[in-house]
Amino acid sequence: MKMPVLFVGHGNPMNAIERNEFYRSWEVLGRRLPKPRTVLCISAHWESRFAYVTATDRPPTIHDFYGFPKALFEVNYPAPGDPRLAQRVADLVTTEQVRLDPGRGLDHGAWSVLIAMYPAADIPVVQLSMDTSLSGSHHYALARQLAPLRDESVLIVGSGNIVHNLPLFSFQDAKPQAWALQCDEELRQHIAARRHDALIDYPALGAQARLAVPTPEHYLPLLYALALQEPGETAAMFNTRVLSSISMTSVLIGGPAQG
Ligand code: ZN
Repeated sequence: MKMPVLFVGHGNPMNAIERNEFYRSWEVLGRRLPKPRTVLCISAHWESRFAYVTATDRPPTIHDFYGFPKALFEVNYPAPGDPRLAQRVADLVTTEQVRLDPGRGLDHGAWSVLIAMYPAADIPVVQLSMDTSLSGSHHYALARQLAPLRDESVLIVGSGNIVHNLPLFSFQDAKPQAWALQCDEELRQHIAARRHDALIDYPALGAQARLAVPTPEHYLPLLYALALQEPGETAAMFNTRVLSSISMTSVLIGGPAQG
């Protein structure tokens, strides 16, 4: 059976410990999707020069943020790694060298979502980094090479936010900013119509795209998920909420039918 593919808008790290609508939706996903052998996560929060995969049996939990309550720093997500999958990723990608990183753990782009999906931490997790100096088409082409993993019970999860502008974000007022709503809507229309070329070349979407994607790291994980959409597969969107200048829009590709 072919595993579905996910893009998850992760938003505020506090979503990991607040039992809010986003946490709940991730809980439901974990129960609804076929149980994977391993999760391969491409997170906004691991950028590097060249591509790396985590290759350790026991990836530590990385608390890669500051200014949050102590409870968030105390979160531990002890999911095992899967060094064999790391090697498999390195073998599958033939257009460049994917390097193994034996020391890197899991960042909050991965664990803040997976702690809700798989609270028992019994599903191994591997992360793949992004060289964000490279173009959307580079990342899309790299992700295409991961397609065989879907037939090997690997759940591929991109974790970011399709509209993500922290300098314009307001903690005081979650009301969606007009430009953010418009951008989210435009991106959702492209996703629904499968206009991947437009989404890959996102800088060409205009001035609003520069507001939505001022830096590429939260957007590019979307392209990893879209690259794995096979002909005839649906892209179901959920959590289509905009909070101030951040969109939580998420995409499930090829998942089980609703209901
Ligand atoms: Zn983030």
